[in-house]
Amino acid sequence: MDNAKLFQYVQVYDVPTVCKSCGNVLVYRGLGEYICEVCKKKDYDNYGKTRNYIEKNPGASAVEIEKNAGVSKAAIREMLKESRFEIVEGAKSFLRCEGCGKEVRSGRYCPECEKNIHLMIEKQQREKLHENMHGFAMDTGDHKGQRRFVRDK
Ligand SMILES: [Zn+2]
Ligand SMILES: [Zn+2]
Repeated sequence: MDNAKLFQYVQVYDVPTVCKSCGNVLVYRGLGEYICEVCKKKDYDNYGKTRNYIEKNPGASAVEIEKNAGVSKAAIREMLKESRFEIVEGAKSFLRCEGCGKEVRSGRYCPECEKNIHLMIEKQQREKLHENMHGFAMDTGDHKGQRRFVRDK
């Protein structure tokens, strides 16, 4: 996965990366939902916002979603194109994951690639956060900071 694709993904879905309450890293939970790894406050990307809105307002139009859920027209168009939402009946296009080429039923990436994208976003966000913290007293041995998130094999 290259950075350009990652950037596009963040842009289209308006992926929230920083907790609005405490400024720590938001971790992807699936289905457009994120949770702050420190204060546990939830946030949503465009997919999550649209999903929540449709759940409460079944049959909502794209215009309503844009106006009431605060999701951009471009994002809605992109999600429709990816058939994330089954609004267009009988549209069975042959889709392949843009990351690994595996067949997918909906969306741009298969679940594994999507997970990896979010891990990369979270990693970049941690690094960014870490850089910003340099010079502060709370920085306790930066050579170890990175390792804490590496899983043992
Ligand atoms: Zn937080
Ligand atoms: Zn894939």
